[in-house]
Amino acid sequence: MTTKTKYSHVSNWIFYRAKARAKILLEGSVSEQYVILEDYCKMILATNPSITAIIKSNMVEGKMIFERVYICLKACKEGFRPGCRPLIGLDGCFLKGYCKGLLLAAVGIEATNSMYPIAYAVCEKENTNTWSWFLKLLKEDLDIDRPSQFVMMNDRQKGLENAIASIFEGAEVRNCVRHLHSNFKKDHPGLLLKQQLWAAAKTTTIPKFQKRMRELRETSENAYNWLALKTPSEWSRSHFNEMVKYDMLLNNLCESFNVAIVDARDKSIITLLENIRYWLMSQFFNKRESLKKWIHPVGKRILQVVERNKNIAKNCLTTRAATYQFQVNCPNNESFDVDLQKRTCSCRRFQLTGIPCGHALAAIWTSGAEIMDYIHECYKKETFLKAYAGIIYPMPSPKQWPETGLNPIYPPFETNLPGRPKKARRRESDELPPSSTKTRRFGQIHLCKKYK
Ligand SMILES: [Zn+2]
Repeated sequence: MTTKTKYSHVSNWIFYRAKARAKILLEGSVSEQYVILEDYCKMILATNPSITAIIKSNMVEGKMIFERVYICLKACKEGFRPGCRPLIGLDGCFLKGYCKGLLLAAVGIEATNSMYPIAYAVCEKENTNTWSWFLKLLKEDLDIDRPSQFVMMNDRQKGLENAIASIFEGAEVRNCVRHLHSNFKKDHPGLLLKQQLWAAAKTTTIPKFQKRMRELRETSENAYNWLALKTPSEWSRSHFNEMVKYDMLLNNLCESFNVAIVDARDKSIITLLENIRYWLMSQFFNKRESLKKWIHPVGKRILQVVERNKNIAKNCLTTRAATYQFQVNCPNNESFDVDLQKRTCSCRRFQLTGIPCGHALAAIWTSGAEIMDYIHECYKKETFLKAYAGIIYPMPSPKQWPETGLNPIYPPFETNLPGRPKKARRRESDELPPSSTKTRRFGQIHLCKKYK
């Protein structure tokens, strides 16, 4: 007996329409979600007291039209000050799905050098006005009275520079060096200039920075003039503030937030906000659970840094000058002055990161002290726990929310972009494609099986 497979003749359009209807059944229509946005804010306040949920809408022709929404969960704002370093990473990413506009995010850095989400907002576009509104709310939520003690990390987004200058007056601004280089290479291309720029960015002392800049000047006077106009504290470790204990040159923190919420970015407004809250809720729990696996006072990633520094320390020769003062000689004939009481090394890596550099480790070994005692408190278990101590509570689905009876909010007037919205991060022209999808094989000759 033979069986015949029957194929249904359904056009692509029927499939698209069926998918759209299924999505409405599951998530509610786009406009319905805006109508219940006030209910959502009331419900999230009821389940998670003391959070900040603010909606900004405009009255146009008698209708309330949605403009912006800002959310800062209680657990995030209460965990930031005791559990993170005084650094805020800022980024905005486009929402290309049903919800148009931008998602602004503020993130911090916690004890394991991982990203810590603080607050997020959906707004119409990126400019000084929207960034100022976001930063003002963030500053109030985090109760920041001395912004000059903070470092603001960013990718030089549109309008952000002016907003930081007015709201976070006196704060140290750091820019992502990869973005700096992508602007630099437009007029000054070449591998040598790229290497010289990165060498100047990575160096930790001012005399070495000046040397690197002189070398760059010898290669190209124009490239030097372009770079000399930038404030060194925005892009070179040699001029970074030592209080923050963070010396990264890339704005990776914000990028990891964008990656974590990538699936939420093409959803309708409430699904988007709920997906982020849902992710945060499980993230906070998982982080608290992960603490049970810690066998050292600091996390795995920090231990790896210590291990790398030990390899440098092994080759150093230490001479003691006093109880806490040491001269450390390296194989390349360079000497460093280490003070264990002040927790300083003349290479400045110890001060910049709060983790003993190779030279400081050599001195710690000579003194017979414990390495862990010299790692800054910001990396310790207790600090990690303070960051994730708060609980983000679960929330029922929209059918179980009480109606607020407030004026309904309507979606913003949309402008549809042609084509399918793109999810992947836009890569630089000289960046390789993601290794997971494309494998590149160089230097291999492939022969045909039949004709060789
Ligand atoms: Zn050192």
